[in-house]
Amino acid sequence: MEASSQPHVVVVGAGPAGLMAAEAAAAAGARVTVRDQRRSFGRTLLLAGRSGLNLTHDEPLETFLGRYSTGRELVEPAIRAFPPSAVRAWADELGADTFVGSSGRVFPAAMRATALVRAWLVRLADLGVAFEPATPWSGFDDTSEHTVLALGGASWPQVGGDGSWVAVFRAAGFAVDPLVASNAGVEVEWSAPLLDRFEGTPLKNVAVSIDGETVRGEPTITAAGLEGGPIYALGPRIRAALARARPSLEIDLQPDLPEADLAHRLAGRRRSKDSLSTWLRRAGLQPVAVAIMREATDNRLPTSVDTLAALAKAVPLPVRGIASIDRAISSAGGVAAAEIDETGMLRRRPGTWVVGEMSAWDAPTGGYLIQACLSTGRRAGTAAAALRAD
Ligand SMILES: Cc1cc2nc3c(=O)[nH]c(=O)nc-3n(C[C@H](O)[C@H](O)[C@H](O)COP(=O)(O)OP(=O)(O)OC[C@H]3O[C@@H](n4cnc5c(N)ncnc54)[C@H](O)[C@@H]3O)c2cc1C
Repeated sequence: MEASSQPHVVVVGAGPAGLMAAEAAAAAGARVTVRDQRRSFGRTLLLAGRSGLNLTHDEPLETFLGRYSTGRELVEPAIRAFPPSAVRAWADELGADTFVGSSGRVFPAAMRATALVRAWLVRLADLGVAFEPATPWSGFDDTSEHTVLALGGASWPQVGGDGSWVAVFRAAGFAVDPLVASNAGVEVEWSAPLLDRFEGTPLKNVAVSIDGETVRGEPTITAAGLEGGPIYALGPRIRAALARARPSLEIDLQPDLPEADLAHRLAGRRRSKDSLSTWLRRAGLQPVAVAIMREATDNRLPTSVDTLAALAKAVPLPVRGIASIDRAISSAGGVAAAEIDETGMLRRRPGTWVVGEMSAWDAPTGGYLIQACLSTGRRAGTAAAALRAD
């Protein structure tokens, strides 16, 4: 493409979605500028990298796509075009040497998130991408530039976006679903003694249920309640339940053991001199598990094996709410699907795309978030480079 006919693509927001849009547009021959309100780029990736940068997930594509609980139509074509295998190949080219963890999660083996972001920024600079830090976006303008907006949701506003774009979009007449916390902890009222002993302790190998959906994993006790994979995965159900009433989670502390077998085991492991707690631990219940059983019964644990087994299979934990959005892993909600075409472009504002968490899809942790951001960014960057500037 001749320099004079090259479109100028301005990408605003330097998270995974924006940086990938910049790479795709520059690789397709566009002149590209990336702006961010922060002084440095890729900060959300650095934050995500603190707990291990889970880039995508290794599983059959149909299963993968089924993880998007809302807005699947917004991300599916982009993910099909740039699937998990392509994300791995892309990261490996940056030197990540990705590997699949035991749960199917894909991580870089060779480098930390800092090195990956650095390598990525070098690649973008080599492609001729210009960077404009400390440049906030505060509204649509009417230049003929092609603009890819990648402003993120509203979680961790001290690092990423604060969702202030929502008001700008609504004022311009676009439908935006409210941004709400997703992949967030739940608030549970723990007693002080439980927190003193068990704050930060995981409940190992349990199954958490609400409204007929069950997810296994290791939720962790926090000062505010419970955090971790199973809680995040149940988020959409918990949100729906909270909209109706004050719901309870049910924790199965021995998911591999049917209730009758657990009762049998409890009967067989009782020693006359044992305290109740020692007896329960002897039957395979970890101390933190016994503590939440006590909590659920107001410290009046039943003594019959059948009632104890029934309790251990379904400890009720009343949930007060979802943790606030500023500590959530991601945001649900965003620009409504009807506003966006198959490339991520705003139908009523040709030349402007929205990518990543800005649009109204939701998924659990496990690599599905970054994957959707990279895929939608890539799709929009490619389309922005291809659209002729008027
Ligand atoms: C602690 C934590 C751990 C995580 N771990 C993982 C993980 O392992 N795997 C995974 O898949 N996902 C993970 N996530 C989620 C993942 O980081 C996000 O889904 C992803 O970063 C969203 O990408 P994005 O590009 O849409 O937006 P963001 O990454 O939020 O980037 C938005 C960018 O836009 C800029 N911006 C916002 N508003 C403006 C404005 N008005 N003007 C200019 N610039 C603006 C922000 O400064 C920011 O740089 C994690 C999130 C957190 C908080």
